[in-house]
Amino acid sequence: LDDLLTDKTKLVCVNQVSNALGVVNPIKTIIEKAHAKGAWVLIDAAQSAPHTVIDVQAMDCDFLVFSGHKMYGPTGIGILYGKEDILNELPPFHGGGEMIKDVTMEVSTYACLPFKFEAGTPDIAGIIGLGAAVGFINSIGMQTIHDYEKELVDYTIQRLSEFDEVEIYAKDAEHSGAVSFNLKFDGVHSSDVGMILDKKGIAVRTGHHCAQPIMHHFNIPGTVRASFAVYNTKEEIDTFIEGLKTAIRMLG
Ligand SMILES: *Cc1c(COP(=O)(O)O)cnc(C)c1O
Repeated sequence: LDDLLTDKTKLVCVNQVSNALGVVNPIKTIIEKAHAKGAWVLIDAAQSAPHTVIDVQAMDCDFLVFSGHKMYGPTGIGILYGKEDILNELPPFHGGGEMIKDVTMEVSTYACLPFKFEAGTPDIAGIIGLGAAVGFINSIGMQTIHDYEKELVDYTIQRLSEFDEVEIYAKDAEHSGAVSFNLKFDGVHSSDVGMILDKKGIAVRTGHHCAQPIMHHFNIPGTVRASFAVYNTKEEIDTFIEGLKTAIRMLG
């Protein structure tokens, strides 16, 4: 990061939690370093908003985004948070209904926040759906969800560590919501493992997780990623480990 940041850096975009590895990034430090260079910071919270308490003011990020469908909500809807003074400075990127204040043949002025950025008829059904998802999360409590899922992730890493055949990526880093691994056998692709688990009714994601640069870093085509939500259980992780034993037997 120190090498990448220069006086010309305008915006730093970074995952709070890596969707490829489940690793929690040190965003507080990243934000401080970026701000020291005068850059804004956009936090991609798609992988953290469903799993952890977020306080944008304490974090001091300039923007933060996340998707409804990663947190029990519908697709096609998400959240963009921005600091008010920055959003006031930014011009609208889209024209349409509800975003203008005054229009003449010569000049237009724009509505106040957030309407300036919400041109046209909104995705009303999606908004109601996302509201219901937030209500569901709040009915359990974000901290409760976080603590429970941390138990699941820690247990998974502990169980996966029992196997010499398994390589866990960034094993010692703090994880949230997901763990990525591969079998160490030559010529075995993550999708081979995924297919065997799938036959047993266990859903994992395989491949590069839309994050090819980190795959290049490890010099691998992809990983197997086990991910967790509040409805998962330790018994399911045991079932997953049994499935993995089959995969090791078949592919080894
Ligand atoms: C899923 C995901 C995205 C993409 O969000 P979509 O709403 O599916 O386009 C971006 N960043 C991260 C970290 C994600 O996990």
